[in-house]
Amino acid sequence: MVYKNYISGRWVSGLSEETFVKKNPAQIDERIGEFPKSGPRDVNLACQAAKEALPKWKALPFPTRGDIMKRFGDLLTAHKEELAAIETREMGKVLKETRGDVQEGIDTAYYAFGEARRFFGHTVPSELQNKLCLTFRRPIGIAGLISPWNFPVAIPCWKLVPALLSGNTVVFKPSREAPLSATKVVELLLEAGVPEGVVNLVHGSGSIVGEAILSHPDIGVVSFTGSVETGRRIAEVCGKTLKRVSLELGGKNGQIVLADANLELAVEGVLWGAFGTTGQRCTATSRLIVEESIYDRLLSTLEERVKNIKIGNGLNEEIQMGPLVSEKQLAKVKEYIKIGKNEGATLVCGGEQYTEGECAKGYFFKPTIFSDVTPDMRIAKEEIFGPVLSVIRVKNLDEAIKVINGVSYGLSSSIYTQDINKALKARERIEAGITYINGPTIGAECHLPFGGLKDTGNGHREGGWTVYEIFTEIQTVYIDYSGKLQKAQIDTEG
Ligand code: NAD
Repeated sequence: MVYKNYISGRWVSGLSEETFVKKNPAQIDERIGEFPKSGPRDVNLACQAAKEALPKWKALPFPTRGDIMKRFGDLLTAHKEELAAIETREMGKVLKETRGDVQEGIDTAYYAFGEARRFFGHTVPSELQNKLCLTFRRPIGIAGLISPWNFPVAIPCWKLVPALLSGNTVVFKPSREAPLSATKVVELLLEAGVPEGVVNLVHGSGSIVGEAILSHPDIGVVSFTGSVETGRRIAEVCGKTLKRVSLELGGKNGQIVLADANLELAVEGVLWGAFGTTGQRCTATSRLIVEESIYDRLLSTLEERVKNIKIGNGLNEEIQMGPLVSEKQLAKVKEYIKIGKNEGATLVCGGEQYTEGECAKGYFFKPTIFSDVTPDMRIAKEEIFGPVLSVIRVKNLDEAIKVINGVSYGLSSSIYTQDINKALKARERIEAGITYINGPTIGAECHLPFGGLKDTGNGHREGGWTVYEIFTEIQTVYIDYSGKLQKAQIDTEG
């Protein structure tokens, strides 16, 4: 099946008429579909449409746009199973998780429905008499949204819903690894009542379509989720036209386990955190930092449990871990296995492609544990984005904090302990945007801020009420009802 871009209220081919093919990573002879290989001229048309649609869309009351988001949530709910299956075929994660991914989109839409009635401004005392000071929140204009592939419904929804609710129009470029989920999300937005030109979908590569979005003078804000490398490039290009840029980038998330922890709970946590989504989450647990007195016991329990993880096609309900998303990702993970071995870490289990039966046709990889990892090794510092866990031994909480903070990322973190004092001290000292106590590094809820420190981003937070700060401008208004000229800072006495 050949899919199209959606520009100015119509489904259209890319102007070049060229396409790219997306395949199922669990079974690479299965084609998901053909999608337009768009170019800068397609982006221009999308921006033109978004510009024309903007005045009417932003003039609507916030609650009217909220009603559309409510309908969008209802439609996502009605299509949940269909969307989950598309996601699984498209990028590989298991059905249980893709259902969760769609649910996050649903939650985001319903949360927006409520937020539409809470676009609060401030009423602030003036330094002068007979004068009123207020602030309003207004849309920025056209939002350029660029998403990755690992949450093919949730991340587009995290961006589309607040951008639209705030009154912006949108040019949306999804990842080439998840174009069908994005297409379905846009279809449902249209069915929910988003008018012509308000949402424009342009498929294609980051280096062409993405770059055209970054440099387009009509786009006022770019919201990006992806790798640090691309994030840096985005900040650089957008800086030239002084766009607002929100960057949600990578992670090297650690789970600390102290000697007093509930070990069973800690093992459950790390299994879910490290191998869920085949380790391809920005919040995946890729470092397990363990107090030395329980290190051996924890490692052997973990090894036992990891061996039982069922690998295969995520459409099968019994399967617990699907494939990596692409050949490129598979090659990257293999490369890190070599790096880990060369650095002197001990390969406890996994470390190779999984090719049993039908899995030979896909990009499957065995869940992998490295032990005896030291904080200076590359496998302890760099984002691998695969089912690879590095286990690091520490003497105590102080060393654990030093290790967990000793990387350039700062997205998610976790500590397992039953000692409330230690947990709260760790909370204070961990350098990460998100900290879980007695929970794994994954599990964000849509109504809380999401994002990280250091190289994980540039200070914005998606999710919750904070995402609306990304997509709105503040207008400050002074109303003088004194009937005379009053000068601030000068006529303030008496
Ligand atoms: P990526 O950076 O390769 O691509 C992300 C998107 O950017 C894609 O749509 C891609 O086409 C586009 N792109 C690439 N080059 C571009 C350019 N020069 N200009 C504009 N757009 C460009 O990342 P990915 O492989 O799709 O996703 C994996 C990465 O995303 C990981 O590093 C992961 O940690 C990160 N991620 C972060 C979060 C978060 O919220 N912090 C969530 C999910 C994934």
